[in-house]
Amino acid sequence: MTTRAIEENKIETETDIKSMSLSELESFFKKIGEKPFRARQVYEWMHKKLAASYDEMTNLSKSLRETLEKDYPLTFLEMIEVQTSKLDGTQKYLFRLEDGNVIESVLMKYRHGNSVCISSQVGCRMGCRFCASTLDGWTRNLRPSEMLDQIYQIQKYSRERVSNVVVMGTGEPMDNYDNLLKFIHMLSDESGLMISQRNITVSTCGIVPKIKMLADENLQITLAISLHASNDEKRKSLMPIAFKYSLQELLGSCKYYFEKTGRRLTFEYSLVGGVNDTQEDAEELKNLLAGLNCHVNLIPVNPIKERDFVQSDKKVIEKFKNKLEKYRINVTIRREMGRDIDGACGQLRKKYLDKE
Ligand code: SAH
Repeated sequence: MTTRAIEENKIETETDIKSMSLSELESFFKKIGEKPFRARQVYEWMHKKLAASYDEMTNLSKSLRETLEKDYPLTFLEMIEVQTSKLDGTQKYLFRLEDGNVIESVLMKYRHGNSVCISSQVGCRMGCRFCASTLDGWTRNLRPSEMLDQIYQIQKYSRERVSNVVVMGTGEPMDNYDNLLKFIHMLSDESGLMISQRNITVSTCGIVPKIKMLADENLQITLAISLHASNDEKRKSLMPIAFKYSLQELLGSCKYYFEKTGRRLTFEYSLVGGVNDTQEDAEELKNLLAGLNCHVNLIPVNPIKERDFVQSDKKVIEKFKNKLEKYRINVTIRREMGRDIDGACGQLRKKYLDKE
């Protein structure tokens, strides 16, 4: 980003009332000569009642509403497109941000509740070889309000209560650390949607120093690590981040995370046909994870047209799973949701950008 863009982003952030935590909003109200309890009212209108405008905030004076409207306009994501799967009801949403950038989010309906998968950045700079979200690079970080509004808009549009949130859409959440943290606090705050931290999962490609920092934040969220390979060589061929941090360092930070939080880790392992799906790979994986309280989520890779990766055979996937189970590792194969819509990470957005 240019200096100017950074400055502009800063100015925007300062007027972005929906990105203010309750305590920030309280100090801000004090500064403009308003009572702190008004701050809680406004906060709840924005984050609990999901008000669509200041006009809806009927317990505020007209003059306060006008001041806020003028200097601190409420911002919303604009829905451009919704695709609904005929197979399982999964919905993919395409949203336009105020500056014209486009992001995508997904609503998945499970028996145990509704889960929303959100984006944390516009694009991504991690460069994982099989991922569509990174093909056009990184544009900017999402602000807390923009992460929250993905959930708010989906809840309003679908009329479904969202009970789980996974930060597994476009972007690397640890590359947008401060906003991510604020987002988690605001999402679980009792004056907002109050989604339990235990129902929030953050997925990372493995930025080791940030995993350690997160471990010290005293949160109860689930951390998911995108592993995808059981040795450094193979991991480097799939994920550039592996050049920066070795598996040993990564696993070290995972152990630290567990020690500090007591939260069981999830390891995501996308199975790519002929690349990381052999019995030797499974054997190596089990050695790597030995002694760690974790759960392995096997994901049949979702092929993208820009790369020639293919899914492993069903039988190969089963064999991989059985091998891990033999060693008493908790393992599941991720059910593919919304196969008939642009399901893979970043595919809907990519299609839209290519069309433009
Ligand atoms: N940047 C974060 C979160 C976004 S990606 C991360 O790396 O974890 C969410 C998950 O989907 C990651 O495990 C990622 O590696 C995986 N993924 C991305 N593209 C995929 C594809 N085409 N097929 C299977 N899994 C994919």
